[in-house]
Amino acid sequence: MISIKNSRELTAMRDACRISAEALQYAGEIAKAGMTTGEIDDLIRRYIEKQGAKPSFLGYGGFPGSACLSINETVIHGIPGKRVLKDGDILSVDVGAFYNGYHGDNAYTFPIGNVSDEAMRLLSATRESLEKAIEQAVAGNRVGDIGAAVSAYVEERGYSVVRQFVGHGVGTNLHEDPSVPNFGTAGRGPRLLPGMTIAIEPMVNQGVSEVEILPDGWTTVTKDRKLSAHFEHTVAITTDGPVILTLP
Ligand code: MG
Repeated sequence: MISIKNSRELTAMRDACRISAEALQYAGEIAKAGMTTGEIDDLIRRYIEKQGAKPSFLGYGGFPGSACLSINETVIHGIPGKRVLKDGDILSVDVGAFYNGYHGDNAYTFPIGNVSDEAMRLLSATRESLEKAIEQAVAGNRVGDIGAAVSAYVEERGYSVVRQFVGHGVGTNLHEDPSVPNFGTAGRGPRLLPGMTIAIEPMVNQGVSEVEILPDGWTTVTKDRKLSAHFEHTVAITTDGPVILTLP
């Protein structure tokens, strides 16, 4: 069931989304070569808790971290731990905050130090594909318009979109209906209505679109071990067009 939020509910949700966005921004400021993902996760958790919120991901389905920290070939769901960030890595941070009954959810892939031109091109294309997707998050459009915009944009540039994992509705639950794939057919799928809040999250691979889940049950890597990038915003569908809720 797709939940429709009234304006009071949307206002309440804005705070959770703002805290999520600020936690993500903070992660980008602190992440440096030489740090472990475990250290970064610890700082993110403390930051969220200091705002009076809870990390949405901590314990979700048994996930042991407060953020998903995914390096290079890791697409999503990287478990924070002993892996040390190196100069030239790309680090995807996916983080959500639960506050006053609502979740926010957002992600960004940060370059660590001096990153190759190819990696920077992948990051730019993925970030831009999220912008193209958000332009389609308009009342009256359909979910397929969002996915079609993402895949058209990145495939034109020689990249592929992950199909095994998709975006989602978000609100009182971290994952709600509808599913929001990064592929699809324009004009197909559930209709977008004012009051819907969705997490749009292109996961874009440098090589093949196939991914593998490592034996830890979480860490999702590209099958060819080439790079992957991930950008995400929580967006409200309104009568005045798309509103990005996950802004600092
Ligand atoms: Mg998400």
